[in-house]
Amino acid sequence: MDSDAEDFLQGLEAVGIQPDRLRAILLTHWHNDHSAGAAFLQRKFGVRIYYAADEAPCLTRETATSGIRGWLGKRVPEAGVLVLLRGILEEAAPEAVTADHLVTDGEIVEGSFRVLATPGHTGGHAAYVHAPTQTLFCGDALAVVDNKLRLMAKPVTPDLPAARISALRCLRERVEFICPGHRTPLTENVKQECRRLQEYLEAGGRWPLLG
Ligand SMILES: [Zn+2]
Repeated sequence: MDSDAEDFLQGLEAVGIQPDRLRAILLTHWHNDHSAGAAFLQRKFGVRIYYAADEAPCLTRETATSGIRGWLGKRVPEAGVLVLLRGILEEAAPEAVTADHLVTDGEIVEGSFRVLATPGHTGGHAAYVHAPTQTLFCGDALAVVDNKLRLMAKPVTPDLPAARISALRCLRERVEFICPGHRTPLTENVKQECRRLQEYLEAGGRWPLLG
């Protein structure tokens, strides 16, 4: 996402949804490529923001680094994967965004989204299951590449044991659709894919270097 949410608003326009219909944003984690723009949308459209308490220090910029890293971070353009680099350098979202509600594992928010605590990729990563459509929004707890379920790459998974438990939690949901934080959703053979990766992880399969 861009800090001015321009890419997000273009996406909404592409699917024919007016931005004034936005009600809430359920953030999975603080990384800029998932959260930049949330502050702008909160301010402009009054949307409610949800995220887990452990993501708050980065999203409210309590953790923002000063010094050379902070200086560099502010100068990284928001383009492509550089968006993430900018956040990693600054160790914070580009603009502070306060939560209207801090989510906890198992609770239902906005009427139909169940929260799944899924730490590992970040300390307070959360996924959301939309019960009516049986859709899992897994953020970066899982990845989808070429219609196959994958794990995120090892270098972007600081806590591998936690991430393994979180991936298994997601996979055991047995949903109909999976919307990952990157690339396209998984809409076919979802249950088979979940079973395949679950069995791999349960058998002690290694975490792949490149995800
Ligand atoms: Zn991420």
